[in-house]
Amino acid sequence: MNQRKRIIAGNWKMNKTREEATELSSALVSALSGQEDLPEIVLCPPFTSLQTVVEKTSLSPVAVGAQNMDWRDSGAFTGEISPVMLLDLGVKYVIIGHSERRQFFGETNTTVNQKLKAAIKHSLVPIVCLGETLDERENNLTDAVVSRQIAAALADIDATLLAELIIAYEPVWAIGTGKVCDAKEANRVASVIRKTVSNLYTGVDIGLSVPILYGGSVNPKNVDEQLAQPDIDGSLVGGASLKPEEFLPIIQAAQNRARLAASGT
Ligand code: PEP
Repeated sequence: MNQRKRIIAGNWKMNKTREEATELSSALVSALSGQEDLPEIVLCPPFTSLQTVVEKTSLSPVAVGAQNMDWRDSGAFTGEISPVMLLDLGVKYVIIGHSERRQFFGETNTTVNQKLKAAIKHSLVPIVCLGETLDERENNLTDAVVSRQIAAALADIDATLLAELIIAYEPVWAIGTGKVCDAKEANRVASVIRKTVSNLYTGVDIGLSVPILYGGSVNPKNVDEQLAQPDIDGSLVGGASLKPEEFLPIIQAAQNRARLAASGT
């Protein structure tokens, strides 16, 4: 049976003022209060609302993540935010290598590797994003692309440091487009990622133990089929994480899956 953690993470992207962030996080916290069998729930607001959301979610089952960070601790890097600053705010998770960062802000496999090392050094839980573009998929390059991305992300990182690693498989063509990846295909790619990770390390099967999330147009209607896949442990949700009426049923789908697994069904 799958013993990996189930995780539902919401990437708010560049949305929500502090007032709106207060409203959304408070609504989620009150709806989730007292509930059992919840997955790990991570809200990733913009930097400007991190402190607000950390405060609103304290003493709740909800954790907070950043959407990005620099890999250096401090210095003359105008506009950047360091891991030390995130920890200072009470942030626990950090998204690394989101395709929008790769596409629009010059993130590369090398910077992903540097940021992953920095997250590990500071005990922030990294959610490393991978995924192919439409062009790469149409040219049958999906497996090669995700394998290259994960191998580069993990370069020179010892297996003993990867206990908290989370990977998100996010096909670029599925992000924000309403085109969800077929669940069985997402599961197949997730298993390719697992095998690649396993092949990078000898002696320990990180590939088997690492939680892999699917992301890309996840919504309350398609989430259950994704979560039913044996190699998919949760969701990284963009648009649908901005409204409680869409995000809560996604959390509930993971809760139902946990209950089914516990009952052996
Ligand atoms: C994302 O931002 O990681 C994402 C998957 O977005 P969406 O759910 O809107 O496709």
